[in-house]
Amino acid sequence: MKKIVQPLLEWFETHQRELPWRKDRQPYHVWVSEIMLQQTRIEAVKKYYARFMEELPDIRSLSQVSEDRLLKLWEGLGYYSRAKNLKKAAQTVMEEYNGEFPHSYEEIIKLSGIGEYTAGAIASVCFNEKVTAVDGNVLRVMARLSGSRENVLLPQTKEKFKKELQKIMPEQSGRFNEALMELGETVCLPNGSPLCRECPLAEYCVSCRDGLTAEIPVRIKNIRRKKEEKTVLILYCNGRIAIEKRLRKGLLSGMYQFPNFEGFCTEEELKAEFQPLKVLFLGKAKHIFTHIDWYMQGYCLEIAEPLKEYLWVTPQELTENYALPTAFQPFWKKCHSLPDSFIE
Ligand code: SF4
Repeated sequence: MKKIVQPLLEWFETHQRELPWRKDRQPYHVWVSEIMLQQTRIEAVKKYYARFMEELPDIRSLSQVSEDRLLKLWEGLGYYSRAKNLKKAAQTVMEEYNGEFPHSYEEIIKLSGIGEYTAGAIASVCFNEKVTAVDGNVLRVMARLSGSRENVLLPQTKEKFKKELQKIMPEQSGRFNEALMELGETVCLPNGSPLCRECPLAEYCVSCRDGLTAEIPVRIKNIRRKKEEKTVLILYCNGRIAIEKRLRKGLLSGMYQFPNFEGFCTEEELKAEFQPLKVLFLGKAKHIFTHIDWYMQGYCLEIAEPLKEYLWVTPQELTENYALPTAFQPFWKKCHSLPDSFIE
């Protein structure tokens, strides 16, 4: 494995992509980008990252932002607890580290929302600490290089690769970790289609030599998924839409949503309950969270009097000021595109 270090570092010097957070490799920039990238592709993250940095350019501004504004800035990225943890960690940095991001892996990993991978990435990339940063890309590269058929989703497989990498970690640990990730993202692609001819490590790679790239890495999932059915309502009254804030705990906590109910309600049931002036069926949608799938159907109802239990906002206010989870967006978009929509 030691043989891969030099060719990989040389390849990275000439092939690394220009990314906004790589311009200065400041901990705040690397940290925010790593958290955003946990569940989202690089291309999609770029625009969120730019918007986030424009409004919250440093740890202090992040520690002081209101939760509503923070969730609005995060709208569309999903997994909103990540944003809340960012703010919590920023407050810790302000209070316990005088606003300066901690320098060591041991301290960084204590911050909210930062796990082994992110702590390793920040500690090595920003402070050159000799620690590993093993994400899904690195796991794939390591499994293919060594020809390992062990399930990469198991913690023990990850630990094994971490130990191997720790043994060969060079002084430029940050560059080395970044290079491994970059190779996984741009060359050693998933789903059996790596670009081995462009790979600087091809001569050391067991999977390339033995034609195993379609079979490795082995990923065996064991997740029990829950299904929930929901009826989502866009209630419209005198130019305003009803929204409500979700509970402070649990899935999508603290975000705003359209009123919704468990199960699929019929049009007749909705008419009996809300006595609307007009009803439009908005179709069906599905949203997949980590362990739950939402199967939804939506209706737009125009009603004569606003109901007290909801917050009533204009469509413009909704778009500009309130974080609406991606799960509800298909119905909101549909509302505007219906030919006889009553929401302008
Ligand atoms: S040679 Fe192919 S399979 Fe092996 S690490 Fe490089 S891209 Fe991945």
